[in-house]
Amino acid sequence: MSTLKISPKTPRRELLRALYRFQAGVEATRQVACAPGCAACCTDQVFLTSLEGDLLREELERLGRQDIVERLEPGAAPAYTCNQLARLCLEQKEPPQESAPGRAPGVCSLLEEGRCAVYEVRPLACRVMASRETCGVGGQAQGDPWWFTLDTALLQIAEHLNLGGVYGVLGTVLTCEKNAGEEELLPCEPLPGLVAPPEHQARLQQTLGPLFATVVAGHPLGHWLDILRAG
Ligand code: SF4
Repeated sequence: MSTLKISPKTPRRELLRALYRFQAGVEATRQVACAPGCAACCTDQVFLTSLEGDLLREELERLGRQDIVERLEPGAAPAYTCNQLARLCLEQKEPPQESAPGRAPGVCSLLEEGRCAVYEVRPLACRVMASRETCGVGGQAQGDPWWFTLDTALLQIAEHLNLGGVYGVLGTVLTCEKNAGEEELLPCEPLPGLVAPPEHQARLQQTLGPLFATVVAGHPLGHWLDILRAG
């Protein structure tokens, strides 16, 4: 039994960066139409964990771009987190209703002249956005069912890495330091299992094997997931 416990020394950021590197490797194998300056998916409806939000805030500070945080507005809470939805799905329960959007999504405040101001530390939800065909303004991304399965699993893992933290829309997560809109944030849940259609289950396990085996701070990432779960 592990004697390691979650502590300030639990390398959550290194684990998150390992997840980002793994996703970048996956992304490199996909034939996508996405290119620099293509930002149809950069809306203010991006969801992320507070761990990811910390990286974004620090990057904005490093860049001397506090002004971006100042102009962010908290947004509505998501109806559920990735792992909450997965858990309800596995329990064969209905997820909470998503509230009807009060307005069309706006442009992400971190988008400047068609480019992301924090591209290197952009959240996983942005990294997994990809399309085989050019979307165009208001267009739909053309993905692939397998991409969706794998990307959902990665989003679930990212949430697990932030157990004890919160999840919400970018504007709220980045401004919650100012106690703005904290009620619009949801607690991160542990991985209840990976949700995948039967035809993808074996492939998913095989694909994620190298990620779980990636050594971070002396332990495989999969071991860290167990340690985080044990709390
Ligand atoms: S954080 Fe960056 S990549 Fe993500 S939606 Fe905003 S501008 Fe686009």
